[in-house]
Amino acid sequence: MQISCCDNDYDSKSLTVEEALTRIYHDLQPISGDEQLAIRSALGRVLAEDILSRINVPPYANSAMDGYAVQGTDLPVAGQTKLTMVGTSFAGQPYSGTVQAGQCTRIFTGAVIPDGTDTIVMQEHIEKQENIITINTGNQVGQHVRPTGEDITIGQTILKSGKHLHPADIGLLASLGIPEVKVKRRLRVVFFSTGDELRAVGETLEKGQIYDSNRYSLYGVLSRLDVDIIDMGVVLDKREDVETAFLAAASCGDVIITSGGVSVGDADYVTETLQKLGKVNFWKVAMKPGKPLTFGKLKDSAFFGLPGNPVSAMVTFYQFVQPALRYMMGQTRLTTIRVPATCLSALKKHPGRVEFQRGIMATDEQNKLVVRSTGKQGSGVLSSMSQANCFIVLPRECGNVEIGDEILIEPFEGLI
Ligand code: AMP
Ligand code: MG
Repeated sequence: MQISCCDNDYDSKSLTVEEALTRIYHDLQPISGDEQLAIRSALGRVLAEDILSRINVPPYANSAMDGYAVQGTDLPVAGQTKLTMVGTSFAGQPYSGTVQAGQCTRIFTGAVIPDGTDTIVMQEHIEKQENIITINTGNQVGQHVRPTGEDITIGQTILKSGKHLHPADIGLLASLGIPEVKVKRRLRVVFFSTGDELRAVGETLEKGQIYDSNRYSLYGVLSRLDVDIIDMGVVLDKREDVETAFLAAASCGDVIITSGGVSVGDADYVTETLQKLGKVNFWKVAMKPGKPLTFGKLKDSAFFGLPGNPVSAMVTFYQFVQPALRYMMGQTRLTTIRVPATCLSALKKHPGRVEFQRGIMATDEQNKLVVRSTGKQGSGVLSSMSQANCFIVLPRECGNVEIGDEILIEPFEGLI
């Protein structure tokens, strides 16, 4: 990876990506307010209480195999032992008696270990004639028994407040017999696009107009985050319209996200309006795409002014807004997963800004991770996001990348 010194992208007024994230976390707090939900409805939500187990899982010692329950002391040290079968323990229908020395029961997977026994001999390892079984050497005392509380013991903290509830968590709660849990209320996120050139899908484009795609990609990423979405449509590049939209958004959202109008062009009113009605924390980050990115507060709402270019809007959403929303939702902070991969494309890059290029990762014949570029990396080339399955993250100081260089990638799966 070479570093060129004459050709660069440094801007002393821009924050680094890390500085910007630190400021965001510093300025925001998790929302207050929770609700009690049935566990199925809690999927995708953030837990607002620690969950302690009120039972042991499994609640009783049970068999891990189909076979025979025996006393460990009856296992032969040499030669063979013959035991008399006195009954059967089925899953859900335990054997009610007590097994004595010289006896055994038939037992099936998940069935209660009968009183008097402590060991399971697999059915494949015995010979059976009538109700007499013959056991050879090679078995160990206590084998194939799942002890009481092997997975979870009474009083154990099983899920912590701040946990984002996944399907396994819902199953885990059910396995503890817990029907409802307390979760954080949904975050309310208001968003709108700005731009005189934007038209909604279904409308006919006149010269100089384009379709508004940002509200759709933002809708997509917000839907996956399980927040309440309030879509305010398109706002024209007029100072008064932008101000009116800001005030309406602040009255209903915990978070406001806009796209477009954050640069310092004549028709860019977003940062200026935030300065007038709220507080700008920063508006420039040393990254590509997405250099103009406004963060601040508008009354009690967090405010993110994303750049209008469709790739820039998505990249800045994933790198800043998504972690911020998760934090506000009460979720424990997550670390970003970035892994090394061999680059199969030559990449152009000037030192000075972190770049989030779009890549397609795969494994090669040796099962090693490799990545190739999606091609054109312009901030308006939304198809690059559509084709990609990862970001290629090129650090600030890095210059051009040669084929075969090792680089870092951030898989999209880790983002959602
Ligand atoms: P801006 O940040 O407003 O200067 O816009 C930068 C570029 O992104 C311009 O080419 C805009 O036409 C385009 N753009 C802005 N908003 C959107 C949007 N919602 N959907 C698609 N393209 C947009
Ligand atoms: Mg614009």
